Amino acid sequence: MPTVATCDPEIAQVIENEQRRQRHQLVMIASENYTSAAVLETTGSVLTNKYAEGYPGRRYYAGCENVDVSEQLAIDRAKQLFGAEHANVQPHSGAQANMAAFFSLVNPGDRIMGMSLNHGGHLTHGSPVNFSGKLYEFGFYGVNADTEALDYAEVQRQAEEFKPAIIIAGYTAYPMEIDFKRFRDIADSINAILLVDMAHIAGLIAGGVHPSPVGYADIVTSTTHKTLRGPRGAMALTTAALSRKYNSAVFPNMQGGPMQHAIAGKAVAFREAMQPEFKKYARQVVQNAQALASGLSAAGLRIVAGGTENHMLLVDTRAIGLTGRQAEEALIAAGLVVNKNTIPFDPESPMVTSGIRIGTPALTSRDLKAADMENVAGYIIEALDARDNEDKLANIGVEVAKFASHFPVPGLDL
Ligand SMILES: *Cc1c(COP(=O)(O)O)cnc(C)c1O
Repeated sequence: MPTVATCDPEIAQVIENEQRRQRHQLVMIASENYTSAAVLETTGSVLTNKYAEGYPGRRYYAGCENVDVSEQLAIDRAKQLFGAEHANVQPHSGAQANMAAFFSLVNPGDRIMGMSLNHGGHLTHGSPVNFSGKLYEFGFYGVNADTEALDYAEVQRQAEEFKPAIIIAGYTAYPMEIDFKRFRDIADSINAILLVDMAHIAGLIAGGVHPSPVGYADIVTSTTHKTLRGPRGAMALTTAALSRKYNSAVFPNMQGGPMQHAIAGKAVAFREAMQPEFKKYARQVVQNAQALASGLSAAGLRIVAGGTENHMLLVDTRAIGLTGRQAEEALIAAGLVVNKNTIPFDPESPMVTSGIRIGTPALTSRDLKAADMENVAGYIIEALDARDNEDKLANIGVEVAKFASHFPVPGLDL
């Protein structure tokens, strides 16, 4: 059987280059991770060939007896892993899991409240360039100017004033723990629905190092490829009462055929997340983020909100005279992959920004420990100092690749 190397050398080259990049660079994009070999194998399997519109046992196509088993396993494991009454594992992405949540709960023009994008909210939480901001009337809460953390009394006040039908909790760039019970109380006080988008922290919740929204939220949406370490994709957990509404919002309302290779990959990832090692992994992710925050603040960088309680930190780069974009560019030249990110009350545009977002899920999957984070912090500081010196940055990149080679990559080396 011809493989991609013989039938399409150009794409084979891309894959090879990407394998080298993932080995040699230190990946600190907070939303990225390395899936296991088992997840990779499953998502690359013949399950990609099967059409299976509908749900297990109720399909619009013949020949679904095998994918019925894998999709039911994914559903059952998601419910077990998070203690949920109902799971839908078909959304192709986090954005679509949210789209289906809105479709199942409100009508176009209705009010939804989420966190401002500049303070850490997601594109699908009301950005004017996204379907969410175009279809619904969004109101926004933010973080407190002094603490740079959530101010629940202020969220309550804004909720009473704006009276949204849905309140969203769960973010893309927020380093502190979220109090879901407080959000439930706020939602109840104005008769709103609580939607929790746990895309970033799902793996921490599965691993027991962040409180769970299940039991508080009416619908919980999540990606499966971030801290949860599964294949690219998403899911939603709902109460039993909302199960039919949510299912029909996904199919037939929003999507056609589900991606059965990805769904089986989700089942594999959920099983992995139930193992005792995953608890250790989640704990280590947080310890590594905290070690990195200490290392960077000791060197004069300002950590937004004063630290981190999850897998990510936001770093204010103005303290060393850099915009987020300049910092990102210096770091990538040295093989250190982070993303520029707006910080709360950022005077710069999202293309420039005043900070960077750094995450530890991917490095922790390569088994880096807190002591290794001192090395990583050292490389980051060195590269930021050498920002105008291309040769120096390239030399740091060589050192970084040497350091990275000590840590095997799941799916490639393991
Ligand atoms: C990543 C993310 C999403 C969207 O996920 P995609 O799979 O990229 O569509 C939604 N919500 C939050 C909070 C996220 O962090």
